[in-house]
Amino acid sequence: MSREFSYAGSPAQIVFGAGSRSKVAEWVVKAGCKRALVLSTPHQKSDAEALAREIGSLACGIFTGATMHTPVEVTEAAMTVVTETGADCVISLGGGSTTGLGKAIAYRTDLLQIVVPTTYAGSEVTPILGQTEGGRKTTVRDAKILPEIVIYDPALTLGLPVAMSVTSGLNAMAHAVEGLYARDRNPISSLMALEGLRAFARSLPVIVNDPQNADARGDALYGAWLCGSVLGTVGMALHHKICHTLGGSFDTPHAETHAVMLPHTAAFNAAAAAPELTEAAAVFGGSIGGGLWDFAKAIGAPLSLKEFGLSEADLDHAASIAVENPYWNPRPIDRDAIRLLLQDAWEGRRPRD
Ligand code: NAD
Repeated sequence: MSREFSYAGSPAQIVFGAGSRSKVAEWVVKAGCKRALVLSTPHQKSDAEALAREIGSLACGIFTGATMHTPVEVTEAAMTVVTETGADCVISLGGGSTTGLGKAIAYRTDLLQIVVPTTYAGSEVTPILGQTEGGRKTTVRDAKILPEIVIYDPALTLGLPVAMSVTSGLNAMAHAVEGLYARDRNPISSLMALEGLRAFARSLPVIVNDPQNADARGDALYGAWLCGSVLGTVGMALHHKICHTLGGSFDTPHAETHAVMLPHTAAFNAAAAAPELTEAAAVFGGSIGGGLWDFAKAIGAPLSLKEFGLSEADLDHAASIAVENPYWNPRPIDRDAIRLLLQDAWEGRRPRD
């Protein structure tokens, strides 16, 4: 088989293990920092306060205003705190929203970021920042945005509600599925994608029945690191484009939208990317779209766009937006096929691949 690829390893430091949150202070010092600003959402304020107490005099303050879609106003409010406290690094404790705020600060200041992820979104291992200003979302990719240190502690995910664990896991799996057929994939990204899918296929059903199962939580977070790394390395295609369209224009919930769309976009690309998807399909019983839909149903994921309040007229509009600005996808995109795919996803029908 002839191979042709280019590969660059991520420079980020990854620390993984139960209880590894206790190593945050050690890593602040190792990074040569003395004044860490701890970031979180309002919901995780008490966790941020506890982390600040744990690192003692290395914490110079807390900002707990992180929110979905990284609004520029929130970043500006956090920037005021960065200046007032003289922070020399940020510690983002939380999911993609908090990581997004840390990235937005680093993009403006080049401050060092330490991320302690508590969901499976994977943003902590990508150099990508999505931010919103006046309701418009823009995406930037820059080396300054990639967090330098990521501390994965599965113990911090024991309390992630089951419904969020399921949708966050499927969100991560979508990075892996699209990574498998990415035009710029490389042997390492494909190995990571497949291993990430296997980790979630094993762990999510266990978590649904036993959310406190530490081994399964560790396995899922391991999957999150792998799938997030794929997102950070290779280009995404139809699935991410449709989810951005739905989230950006119809305000559908982020992880839930990924969860509903994944089986349908995978089925759409199944024949065009058959060799790349063979092993992943085997993980889910032989058919990638139908298999992922069965998996999602079995773990109680949302299955239809209808659940998010979208109307059929919205689907017409979404199909038109999704085919604007042509982008690469293994199967050529046409509006009628996308409209049909959206109809199936809206109705919650098992995809036909
Ligand atoms: P989130 O960070 O918005 O978290 C949702 C809610 O769950 C928040 O209130 C949060 O505080 C809470 N939460 C998080 N972890 C918890 C835990 N362990 N226990 C209890 N509650 C917890 O959700 P998300 O899905 O992680 O992130 C979504 C955002 O991340 C979106 O804005 C998305 O665009 C972005 N994202 C960006 C990238 C990237 O590479 N730039 C990748 C993936 C996601």
